[in-house]
Amino acid sequence: PEQLDPDPKKKTLVILGTGWGSVSLLKNLDTENYNVVVVSPRNYFLFTPLLPSCTTGTIEHRSIMEPIRNILRHKKAKVSYYEAECTKIDYAKKIVYAKDNSEIKGDNMETEIPFDMLVVGVGAENATFGIPGVREHGCFLKEVGDAQKIRKRIMDCVETATFKDQPAEEVKRLLHMVVVGGGPTGVEFAGELQDFFQEDLLKWVPQIRDDFHVSLVEALPNVLPMFSKQLIEYTESSFKEEHIEIRTKTMVKNVTDKFIEAEVQQPDGTKKLETIPYGLLVWATGNALRPVVKDLMTQIPAQAKARRGLEVNEYLVVNGTENIWGVGDCAVANYAPTAQVAAQEGAFLARLFNTMAKTDAIEDELRDLSAKQATTAGDERNAILGEIRERQRQLRRIKQIGPFQYSHQGSLAYIGAEKAVADVSWFSGNIASGGTLTYLFWKSAYLSMCFSARNRILVAFDWTKAKFFGRDVSRE
Ligand code: FAD
Ligand code: NAD
Repeated sequence: PEQLDPDPKKKTLVILGTGWGSVSLLKNLDTENYNVVVVSPRNYFLFTPLLPSCTTGTIEHRSIMEPIRNILRHKKAKVSYYEAECTKIDYAKKIVYAKDNSEIKGDNMETEIPFDMLVVGVGAENATFGIPGVREHGCFLKEVGDAQKIRKRIMDCVETATFKDQPAEEVKRLLHMVVVGGGPTGVEFAGELQDFFQEDLLKWVPQIRDDFHVSLVEALPNVLPMFSKQLIEYTESSFKEEHIEIRTKTMVKNVTDKFIEAEVQQPDGTKKLETIPYGLLVWATGNALRPVVKDLMTQIPAQAKARRGLEVNEYLVVNGTENIWGVGDCAVANYAPTAQVAAQEGAFLARLFNTMAKTDAIEDELRDLSAKQATTAGDERNAILGEIRERQRQLRRIKQIGPFQYSHQGSLAYIGAEKAVADVSWFSGNIASGGTLTYLFWKSAYLSMCFSARNRILVAFDWTKAKFFGRDVSRE
């Protein structure tokens, strides 16, 4: 049944974020057990694995977004959602402070939300390592807005490069697409961009043939460090065939509006500073902590040594607290910061909270029964004692929920030219594969993982549309 005001008999569970961790929790949570409040500046869930495809228009961004309102309206009990950013968590006072940072603001744009239980699933920021110029001149690839910005800039670079009497050097610079970070985000984006060039741009703007050029810059000796050696080699040789240049052992130190400066390690071990001109710069060097998470860590002495995120125990409880849980990229549970981990953690928390609600209800019943048996005698008392024993047995069974255990299904990445790489767990072994068959596997796996049937249909439609009509090159 709908509840308009918080039910004083229930605990208030506040969930921060509408990403992989929080939405997986919401999907599996029995919402009638708590007063559930969701706070996130993003009123939709985003299927990030297909975000790189939105940068070139292979997939339209709305096809991989699912409105949070649609997810919540299917829950049994009403869940409150506030489109706001949590600006501070006060651990001692058990209050979350939220601010409406959207364009349209009402008279009230800041609020305080008290909680009994809190789940922090705010994800991470883009890491820049304090490198000057990155924020001003580079594009990140984390949110829908980032993909839209990249899509616009690619076409802006192409149109500006083909402007009348553009000097040859400037044409080269404008058509140099530089991607920094050889993790899966950088690799997938570089692959998508080269596909766009080969399959569409060349047809529409053939004069850029000799100057359009994608480079992937990586500080380490190889790209995709989380994949097996053979798949790293496969990716590197496939990029070579596709004419995507990989510059490994190249650490970017400075960014200006027209070039990056990078320290390149030479074969003899010495280092050389190189200037690399670019038209588009995409910065994909991984995750950094959000300020609200950093601030929470300073309030909890047990988090003093934590560096990469909220340290949590095997039940995902933030160490040093009893009523705060951490999921996904903002928490450190010894797993990689991936959607796969975040989704499993969210589902685990739902199981845990559903169980906790059941145990709370049984413990209440037990208290009532104990009070009753103290004032009764004879057969009636024996019957109550029997009931108490039964409830205690139920409680033991329910409390047997084990700690969180991550089950790794494998790693998958698209590398362009209709090829993908996959390190997939198969029974107790591992299968490493790369190529076109793996690409078909990648496509079907991600299609089946899309949030809703609506998303699945839209993505399949976008793929078909791009295949038959090409990607849309108009610059919005
Ligand atoms: P997110 O999904 O980032 O969600 C965080 C949520 O918190 C968002 O709703 C955000 O708006 C909200 N939020 C932010 N700040 C606040 C605040 N102050 N208060 C309240 N809410 C806040 N992983 C895979 O396993 N497979 C893949 O193929 C894959 N591909 C990827 C491709 C790209 C381009 C990117 C960027 C990532 C990819 N990942 C992939 C990683 C995956 O997306 C993340 O690990 C995952 O999103 C983490 O989930 P999360 O819930 O912690 O955070
Ligand atoms: P990442 O952390 O995986 O990789 C970042 C890379 O940038 C590193 O290899 C690092 O050496 C490099 N780097 C850092 N500073 C640099 C500098 N100054 N100059 C040059 N190179 C520099 O980041 P990501 O690719 O954004 O991925 C983030 C997380 O999301 C990871 O856990 C990843 O597994 C996950 N993800 C998974 C997929 C997938 O499974 N297909 C896709 C995207 C992201």
